[in-house]
Amino acid sequence: MTGRNPIEALAHLRHEFGEHGGINMSIEASSTFTVMEPGTMPEMFKGLKGHDAGCYLYGRHFNPTVYNLGLQLAALEGTEAAYCTASGMGAISSTVMALAKAGDHIVASSAVYGGTYALMHDFLPVKAGITTSFVDITDLDAVRAAITEKTTVLYTESVSNPTLRVADIPKLAAIAKDAGIPLVVDNTFSPLILNPVALGADIVVHSITKFISGMSDIIAGAVCGSKPFIESLMDLHEGPLMLLGPTMDPKVASKISLRIPHLPIRMAAHSERALALARRLEEYGAKVGYPGLPSHEDHELLDELACPDYGYGGVMTIDMETEDRANQLMSLLQNKYRFGFMAVSLGYFDTLMSCSGSSTSSELTDDDKSSAGISPGLVRLSIGYTGTLEQRWRQLKGALEDVGVQAAA
Ligand SMILES: *Cc1c(COP(=O)(O)O)cnc(C)c1O
Repeated sequence: MTGRNPIEALAHLRHEFGEHGGINMSIEASSTFTVMEPGTMPEMFKGLKGHDAGCYLYGRHFNPTVYNLGLQLAALEGTEAAYCTASGMGAISSTVMALAKAGDHIVASSAVYGGTYALMHDFLPVKAGITTSFVDITDLDAVRAAITEKTTVLYTESVSNPTLRVADIPKLAAIAKDAGIPLVVDNTFSPLILNPVALGADIVVHSITKFISGMSDIIAGAVCGSKPFIESLMDLHEGPLMLLGPTMDPKVASKISLRIPHLPIRMAAHSERALALARRLEEYGAKVGYPGLPSHEDHELLDELACPDYGYGGVMTIDMETEDRANQLMSLLQNKYRFGFMAVSLGYFDTLMSCSGSSTSSELTDDDKSSAGISPGLVRLSIGYTGTLEQRWRQLKGALEDVGVQAAA
């Protein structure tokens, strides 16, 4: 394994102090900012004096607290700059709209988050004249073939939702570079585990809502990239973050900032529990999908690309074949055995379960679902780290036995 470990960069940043000497960053609770001289204001609007000169314009533009959280996200992803948004979708839609205009074309993985799929498949063609070709991102020839002279973005998730296919970021980056277009990676499933920019990607987007927040109480997102790109998102005439306004609240930024120092511990805990349960499930004879298992088709690739300290991630799947059996399993796991919750989302400290085909991937057409490998009985589990391994295994095994999945001899 070769991946970059960002925690040294994160630890270094912890030595920026609040204005009262607090060990945590201060919350700048102002939506607007004063200037000492009237002449400064026109300079700010012309972009001559910016936040790096300590001049803030307005809270929907840069806010100091949100800006500081952006520095942490930039350290996490090893980018020159980053900025945080009100949601993952705010980050994704702003990024895509900054990179494509009417008439342009996107090549995207066919196994993306349902909201991203709907944005590209349904919303952008109608509202903005931007079209998308969805391809199997693991088929590099198909990716190359889908790129036309109109293509301005290559878009993928680092680890796909819910099929957990791993994107070969170095090879995709080479294809994007050849075509002269940026590679955008949604790293929501694998913060710390994968460092897309160190592997050649240009821009990383996150749904902070998931692992980075870790408590399923906040909706938030981030865009990480070069300084000119992040600045372009705030352009007063064409910047999608400035003009569409998916602005993060500074109080939210402060809360997220307090969770980043223990993200490494949480990621390792999710991965450790998920790997142990996946091994037992496989041994039991359940149809488990987890990139930490040598039986997973991308196990070796993930080994090659990942930072070794955080495991293989917190998400796994169990294929129950039919939606009925998937629902029975989840219902038992929640209501009889107290293993976890039937809820969408992921990255929570407890286990969350959903049947992807009828929930978070229901935006996909049936054809796109089957070509993305989403069976109607596929249960996605975001494995929490509460309770003990033995307790959780007893619960899981109990529910499998009740649905009639018998242990292999
Ligand atoms: C949840 C999710 C999003 C959307 O993020 P929100 O914070 O809900 O807007 C995008 N990509 C992936 C992979 C996700 O899991």
